[in-house]
Amino acid sequence: MITRRRLLATGAAVTGASVILPYAAMAQAGTSQSYDAADGPVTISPIAHASFVMETPIGTIYNDPVGDAAQYEGHPAPDLILITHEHGDHYDADTLAALVGPNTQLVTNPAVFEMLPDGLKARATALANGEETNILGLGIQAIPAYNTTEDRLQYHPQGRDNGYVLGFDGLRVYIAGDTEDIPEMRALTDIDVAFVPFNLPYTMTEEQAASAVAEFQPAFVYPYHYRDSDPEKFAALLGDTDAETEVVMGPWYG
Ligand code: ZN
Ligand code: ZN
Repeated sequence: MITRRRLLATGAAVTGASVILPYAAMAQAGTSQSYDAADGPVTISPIAHASFVMETPIGTIYNDPVGDAAQYEGHPAPDLILITHEHGDHYDADTLAALVGPNTQLVTNPAVFEMLPDGLKARATALANGEETNILGLGIQAIPAYNTTEDRLQYHPQGRDNGYVLGFDGLRVYIAGDTEDIPEMRALTDIDVAFVPFNLPYTMTEEQAASAVAEFQPAFVYPYHYRDSDPEKFAALLGDTDAETEVVMGPWYG
């Protein structure tokens, strides 16, 4: 069982088994949270929507960085950039070109790999669903991410897009990507920190997300990618289950 290094207890409300951190508490204490891996902390900083930075023992990792590169000022340059899929809220070649340093590596799904400009492609590894790689000593597994509801299938067809499980020593992080509550998510085990989306019509409902999280029970879950949806509703639904998952709210939308 991991412990968060810096608990933001101020104003925390307890609902069932989940601790809900109000936005005000997050704003007061800053936006970064640290989690202990065996060889040092993994510090997570939400940027916006699906974009975040992880400062880790193996280096600095950016997930789905898009938009103005100035949003990332104050964070180290990325050693590794993860891209889940091609949609504009996850993949922006201009942002990548602005952010990459001389030693930055990328991991993408195969479709994005084919879209990369040559300079970025030379730094990239394509991972298809179910494949694994090891970069900078970090095991990275590509988890499927897809829609299952009939009128949403066109957004994320099965087999194209990725989520990722990152295997730090003593800390497993799951980034769901754009997906519904697929069996591959529900079957995950030993996840310490998870990032789970819910927004319609692109991913899933709060009910689907809470049901899936209650099944794989990460120690901590970040609702992310929830524009026009309700993270408090998600937290309340999860709190009504037997899950001992703690919900971590972040400033994803300003
Ligand atoms: Zn998408
Ligand atoms: Zn998206």
